[in-house]
Amino acid sequence: MALSLVVMGASGRMGTTIANLALEQGLKLAAVMERPEKVDALAHWGCLAGSDVNAILPQVPGAVIIDFTAPEATMVTARAAVRHGNPMVIGTTGFSAEQKAELEQLALSGKLFWSPNMSVGINVLLEILPRLVRMLGPDYDLEMVELHHNRKKDSPSGTALRLAECLADARDWDLKDVACYHREGIIGERPKKEIGIQAVRGGDVVGVHTVYFMGAGERIEVTHQAHSRENFAQGALRAARWIGGCTPGKLYSMSDILLSEVKS
Ligand code: NAD
Repeated sequence: MALSLVVMGASGRMGTTIANLALEQGLKLAAVMERPEKVDALAHWGCLAGSDVNAILPQVPGAVIIDFTAPEATMVTARAAVRHGNPMVIGTTGFSAEQKAELEQLALSGKLFWSPNMSVGINVLLEILPRLVRMLGPDYDLEMVELHHNRKKDSPSGTALRLAECLADARDWDLKDVACYHREGIIGERPKKEIGIQAVRGGDVVGVHTVYFMGAGERIEVTHQAHSRENFAQGALRAARWIGGCTPGKLYSMSDILLSEVKS
């Protein structure tokens, strides 16, 4: 039987891309959801539509929720998903530390998956960057620049934060002690123990992340460019197929999928 999905934020950029791709791939849209004022515009999907997740989920047992909305909305849905036993794939970014901790707590009793970037490329980068950091050694300065479209709400991007966390971990640093998001005025010499993260916003850029490793007399740049949102939607649907077979106990991520497939 085709996998059944509940697409949250179905009128959004990611929600629309995911719902269309799901239909193209022969998956079933069990329900689409939006904020109350946007529910009427969901009729064309031809399935259950609504804005109250606690009213919809009992009608779609076992359906996998895919949520690319906003942090507050995602938290409400994650609590409901665990309560009603629906697996959930989260792509939303911009969570506070408290919200992330609550998601991890919820994942102890429900099937939850979260990746701030669903692309294979970024998740492979997350696996190999620590090796690069360690092989280059402590003399290389670590910096990052990210570019996104002019309607993006959070800054820096969730992906930039995840990449920066990965760089910091590889140096045994805590990102919150070493991240530098802003430079202006007479700032003096760059401290060795720092990771710069700069955000550029404009046009319709889907997402570009460049990590710089800058040493004396040379520099390595590693860039990931997302060409379309379909790349993220493909990852979200891959996660939706995968999460059903997992047992609750941790907040799963794309690296769990990639590593389980490399091992097998
Ligand atoms: P968007 O603003 O185009 O879409 C969000 C949609 O969610 C809107 O239609 C909005 O009405 C809806 N929404 C808000 N609150 C809701 C609620 N309570 N119930 C139902 N729907 C609700 O934004 P977008 O570009 O699609 O991005 C959405 C999120 O996904 C952002 O956090 C973004 O950073 C993230 N994102 C993640 C990835 C990834 O790979 N993980 C990729 C792209 C975007």
